[in-house]
Amino acid sequence: MNEYIVDLFEFARTGRVAEGDVQLAALPRMVTEVPAEVSASGRAQGEFHWRAEGVEKPVLRADGKPAVAQFLTLSVEGPMWLECQRCLTPYQESLDSETTFEIVRDEAAAEARPLDDDEFEALVGSKHFDLRELIEEELLLALPIVPKHEVCPSVHESLATGDDGLTEPAPAPEEEDKPSPFAALAALKRSPDKDGK
Ligand SMILES: [Zn+2]
Repeated sequence: MNEYIVDLFEFARTGRVAEGDVQLAALPRMVTEVPAEVSASGRAQGEFHWRAEGVEKPVLRADGKPAVAQFLTLSVEGPMWLECQRCLTPYQESLDSETTFEIVRDEAAAEARPLDDDEFEALVGSKHFDLRELIEEELLLALPIVPKHEVCPSVHESLATGDDGLTEPAPAPEEEDKPSPFAALAALKRSPDKDGK
């Protein structure tokens, strides 16, 4: 029995709330993001807290027509091992995100949504919806595009010794505010029922 499988339509219609903790080890795509030296040392345990809340409510469509729509708000949080791109050492980053989706019947309904309705991302529902997959998607999207310490504990050895005698090059311009094309793509591809399994 899998506690993560829910009837998403019923979940929203009855305003259910569910929450729990999921082990990092149960999220294969997150596991691959853990730096190799952390995995090898056995320190890569961890868990993430998640909370899902369904709601059904009347909405006014862009064309002025009233409708009843279903929503799912999913929040995820927890510490994640990543490799700092500045000093190349592993560190723990706190992930924290909350997203509200509008639940739709199928892909066609997702595509048929008026453009003005894009306030919430469409999520294709199912009677056997796997919350864990969505939790993992959200955690993956919450990963920083350029992981790095706020302040690195020490300069990386190869830079510190500077065996070629040159001075350290100027740091690259900050790029962390740029939206990632991969994150955007992942958001577009998000449809749990056909996630290439
Ligand atoms: Zn660092």
